[in-house]
Amino acid sequence: MDLTLDATQADLRERARVYARDVLQPHEAEFERNGGTLPAETIRELKRRAIELDLHGGSLPVEAGGQGWSALEQVLVHEQLGQVTGGLWSFIPGAYNALAACSPEQRRRYLEPSLRGERTGSYAITEPGQGSDARTLAATAVEDPSTREYVLNGEKWFVTGPSDTDFMIFHCHLLEGGERKPTLFLVDYDEPGVEMTGDPDYTHTFADRHPQFTLTDVRVPATAILGAIGEADAMTNQWFVEERLHIGARCTGAMERLLTLAVEWATGRIQFGQRIYDFQGVSFPLADSAADAAAARLLTREAAWHMDQHADPKVVHARASVAKLFASEAAYRCADRVVQVFGGRGYMREFAAERFLRELRVDRIWEGTSEIQRMVIARALEKRGVDRVVG
Ligand SMILES: Cc1cc2nc3c(=O)[nH]c(=O)nc-3n(C[C@H](O)[C@H](O)[C@H](O)COP(=O)(O)OP(=O)(O)OC[C@H]3O[C@@H](n4cnc5c(N)ncnc54)[C@H](O)[C@@H]3O)c2cc1C
Repeated sequence: MDLTLDATQADLRERARVYARDVLQPHEAEFERNGGTLPAETIRELKRRAIELDLHGGSLPVEAGGQGWSALEQVLVHEQLGQVTGGLWSFIPGAYNALAACSPEQRRRYLEPSLRGERTGSYAITEPGQGSDARTLAATAVEDPSTREYVLNGEKWFVTGPSDTDFMIFHCHLLEGGERKPTLFLVDYDEPGVEMTGDPDYTHTFADRHPQFTLTDVRVPATAILGAIGEADAMTNQWFVEERLHIGARCTGAMERLLTLAVEWATGRIQFGQRIYDFQGVSFPLADSAADAAAARLLTREAAWHMDQHADPKVVHARASVAKLFASEAAYRCADRVVQVFGGRGYMREFAAERFLRELRVDRIWEGTSEIQRMVIARALEKRGVDRVVG
């Protein structure tokens, strides 16, 4: 395995670094102070700069209007984005990879405006009764034979996207011939019957909101089906694997920033007449975090490399789970240690360490909890073989 970056990859990483450090980070404190909002003009500027730096639509193929990044290239970018608090990277124009399956009409209506930063979509899978077990969703679609329309019903929770999000990918079961066929539909938020029933606050202060929706007898044409009937589980699973790699990468980036801030602080802070960095009680937890960060980076890049080599998808799935499990658990440990190193300042929202401690918690929950990652890994150890998962 060769993980050496070529010139194009190094350039991409540098552009992402510039965007994270020079464009996004300066807005973190204001964003937190304002309870998770930025002026509309600032958001437009963040989108414009992302497009200018060719960071929009990164994971979508070039034919679909994206940048066509390899999995490793996506990881390189997300390592940089993870160094930003507030999830401000959500303002980068883009679209879920499922939109690569858009028909020409769907492309014009959803994908192209998303890549221009004019529209934003969410991915609605989770329901009040169905979370980790996403194969048993209650949401349904039924065809009305008189109009050939599909009638959608269901309740969706944690429907993530910035506040201007205006359409969702609705994951449901199409009831047909006594069968339940997992199918994705593209649904505009302003369709009659779509109601946002709640917009709760969460532990983090994030660019994304996570509202709840009820769809009651929402009528959509057959052209609203994304991909093919019965394909939703496979398409959503592909998203889970990709996003687990992104999470692993962002957690790695978060650890790098946390360590940078902690070393800078601890080597300057004097207590008992000496630098607190010279107390092993302070520096050893940082050394442990450095080992965590380095391991997380390798695991994530290695899983991406396997994906790029078109390895057995089940093995890639397991390796992505290993990376997400390790990196998310490690990043939370790291944030906790760094908060301790900052002392009282670590508990102040104006310090990045405090924000990371709140924000990194969800990485152990979304896109499959740590327990679900362990299930995926344990199953792969038995079915694919230990050597293919860890070798
Ligand atoms: C901020 C945020 C944003 C989100 N964004 C989205 C989104 O955009 N779209 C979307 O569809 N969903 C989204 N989610 C939902 C997220 O994916 C789920 O919360 C997650 O999958 C867990 O499901 P659940 O909350 O229903 O918990 P449950 O599935 O009820 O699990 C509760 C607990 O039981 C454990 N558990 C469950 N089954 C097992 C098992 N077999 N073995 C061991 N332990 C088990 C879990 O690990 C967890 O600790 C988001 C969630 C959050 C918090």
